[in-house]
Amino acid sequence: MSRTWVLDLDNTLYPRNSGFFARINQRIDRYMEHQMGLPGAVIPKLREDYRRRFGVTLGGLIAEHRVDPEQYLRYVHDVPVARYLDPDPALVAALEALAGRKVVFTNGSTGHARAVLARLGLNAQIDGIFDIAFMDYVPKPFFHGYRKLLLELAVAPASCWMVDDLTANLDTGRELGMTTVLVGPEPQGEHRHVRRAADLVGLVGGVVDRGAAPA
Ligand SMILES: [Mg+2]
Repeated sequence: MSRTWVLDLDNTLYPRNSGFFARINQRIDRYMEHQMGLPGAVIPKLREDYRRRFGVTLGGLIAEHRVDPEQYLRYVHDVPVARYLDPDPALVAALEALAGRKVVFTNGSTGHARAVLARLGLNAQIDGIFDIAFMDYVPKPFFHGYRKLLLELAVAPASCWMVDDLTANLDTGRELGMTTVLVGPEPQGEHRHVRRAADLVGLVGGVVDRGAAPA
């Protein structure tokens, strides 16, 4: 069975400590304060509430403030990627070595994903981008986008390996029957674990070797 890699983008294909995603998070606060005119003091609580109820801040802004998602996404992703991220030849080589189709499945926008992939050097390794618009703005970890993705790719969950830095997102994939891999400093939950995405090759190599060994 050929494998499909379902790869998260932010804090998965590049490290959290790059500061890039933290900068995007600041842009979300700025958007709410300067574009929407909300008092700065209420923003942290509001964002926490929206994330809990809608998965991401944007969900609440659409539902309760009729924010235009495309305009919002352009604003929050307007961060100079080259200032935070460097080309990553090790990751390029790793993804090249991984057999199977590779798609990006992100709660961000396609424009943002393209900019990040181009900077990392991954354009040729990624076969498709499925963003929050594709998910009808119902983000991970809600089931909607996962089901839509599986239909669109015409694959069974059992053939998918999902890679993400957030256990909540992986839990949904696991519940659907995907193999799940957490990227980050420490293992958590029942997911396989790598410290960084470039280590995926070692993980699969081990699995394949064990599977191929005579009984
Ligand atoms: Mg992420």
